[in-house]
Amino acid sequence: MTVRMKKVKKYTIEILLIFALSLSVILTGCAGRKASPEDMNISEAESEAETTVEAEAEKVETTEEETEALTETESEPESSIEETEVAAEVDASQDMSASQLSSESEAIYLDENWQYSDFTVVHNDPAILYRAQNNRKDIIIGVDAGHGTKGAEGMKIYCHPDKSPKTTGGSTAAGATMANAQSGGMTFNDGTGEATMTLKVARLFRDRLLEDGYDVLMLRDEDRIELDLMSRTVIANNMADCHISIHFDGDGLGYDKGAFYIAVPDGIKNMSPVKETWELDDRLGAQLVEGLGASGIKIYGNGTMKIDLTQTSFSTIPSVDLELGNQATLVNDELASKYVEGMMLGVDSFFAQR
Ligand SMILES: [Zn+2]
Repeated sequence: MTVRMKKVKKYTIEILLIFALSLSVILTGCAGRKASPEDMNISEAESEAETTVEAEAEKVETTEEETEALTETESEPESSIEETEVAAEVDASQDMSASQLSSESEAIYLDENWQYSDFTVVHNDPAILYRAQNNRKDIIIGVDAGHGTKGAEGMKIYCHPDKSPKTTGGSTAAGATMANAQSGGMTFNDGTGEATMTLKVARLFRDRLLEDGYDVLMLRDEDRIELDLMSRTVIANNMADCHISIHFDGDGLGYDKGAFYIAVPDGIKNMSPVKETWELDDRLGAQLVEGLGASGIKIYGNGTMKIDLTQTSFSTIPSVDLELGNQATLVNDELASKYVEGMMLGVDSFFAQR
């Protein structure tokens, strides 16, 4: 598709969106009137308008990449400002997800001048920064839907910035200086891939964070992206106020052992940049686990396990690998919303104390 075609497509979508939203607002106004036989038709038309809005919002979301590509070379057209305002109004009355309405999202590509960027291997895709529309807190939560990397098959990354060996075992053995840049994650007992589940929970978490005024940096917002673990960590370091990576443990157990966070082991607490961050990692992890417990999630042991992870070894911001369960966990909608509420409690208490 040519740039001009993309542009035309984008404007067409915006015009359709504004039209559908305006129609919807008008019709919502009608709904408050005295009941009359016409109301039947109005309700029908209203739900149709809502469907159209949703469909258009979806279209906007799917053309996000194209939109972002355009905004790099030209300034944002004025109409998108109106679009944001109308969208915010509709949000209050129609209970649509924040992300569908968040026209304020931005593609964040890795900047090769950033610290540790020379340790990354694949960064052709961007992370997506969503800005909250209401009650803005000016805090960016980095949310990583664990796994789901493509394009880094067979590639390796260093475990530590000083290239020293890992001090504990995990998915990479103790003593190794390099780890796989791409890991598929485990498979749930029902056949669901870990990456699918982490994305599902991450998206729900994103929407809930945006609702409460947090901005969200989605380090993976697609099924599979060309952004390896190291690239995600480097982008989070430079763009977010914390980094929460969502996982489920592949421990081979036949029962759900509960949630926990992975803490930095003692052996690397003097290594840069870990010596500056491990206490904050611990506080964020402990508060997330405490929140999960308060929302009714089973907690494993004392809620933590010490493992030498590449993510926390390169993090210059509070950073946590959060294991919400394992392959035996049955993640239904009820459980997923408990995860989200629990993580919200954790984030709120962490930033309240900052
Ligand atoms: Zn995992």
